[in-house]
Amino acid sequence: MKKKLIAGNWKMNGGLAANEALLQALLAGVGTPACGVAVCVPAPYLAQVQALCAASPIELGAQDLSMHAQGAYTGEVSAAMLRDFGVRYCLAGHSERRQYHGETDGLVADKAKAALAAGITPIVCVGETLAEREAGQTEEVVKRQLAAVIHANGHCISEIVVAYEPVWAIGTGRTATPEQAQQVHALLRAQLKLASTQADRIQILYGGSMNAANAAQLLAQPDIDGGLIGGASLKAPDFLTIIAAAQ
Ligand code: PGA
Repeated sequence: MKKKLIAGNWKMNGGLAANEALLQALLAGVGTPACGVAVCVPAPYLAQVQALCAASPIELGAQDLSMHAQGAYTGEVSAAMLRDFGVRYCLAGHSERRQYHGETDGLVADKAKAALAAGITPIVCVGETLAEREAGQTEEVVKRQLAAVIHANGHCISEIVVAYEPVWAIGTGRTATPEQAQQVHALLRAQLKLASTQADRIQILYGGSMNAANAAQLLAQPDIDGGLIGGASLKAPDFLTIIAAAQ
């Protein structure tokens, strides 16, 4: 059976001391997890987290990357730079990047491509806003977002991770019900199957107010292969409970 993946997204939180305390608590409790575990940390802390998590089951993730390989792109971080710090995963197209930084479907697709070219697994985020859900556009929106990534990445699509994150559920405490989430995951799986014979091995994570109390139910759905956890990944006991729920 496919292993699940639990990835924390620290967003713009943390600091040297807080990161160390959080990671020490995670390392003390994580044991030998049945699932993959990763933390996506702010870029300045990659070296710190790489050192603290060396030889542990906790893998390193970044939150964003440039679509360009190198050059005059002030402030950007390339996939090869992330790779230098042992980064295994990188988020691409988180809704906060789409919303606050104007990231388009095409840009997100190119970022996923840049990650893959450097041997980093992109965690491509898709999801509808509340207005889109209420207008009955959920399917159309997530399919459009994923289609761009499929188009740009061809047969490499089986190497990506997808995260379905309904925007209305992110940081709001309002989680999609397991049925709502499963419905969209099944749609995404079907779309991936049309693009790749390997679609069954692609992990499709759910994100949006996943926490210690609701993780087990969400993770029990047939097409939910893990979680992308924001707020609850900053609290070691909660994150560990979610990891334990991902069997
Ligand atoms: P949340 O964030 O768990 O705090 O809702 C999830 C995410 O944005 O990845």
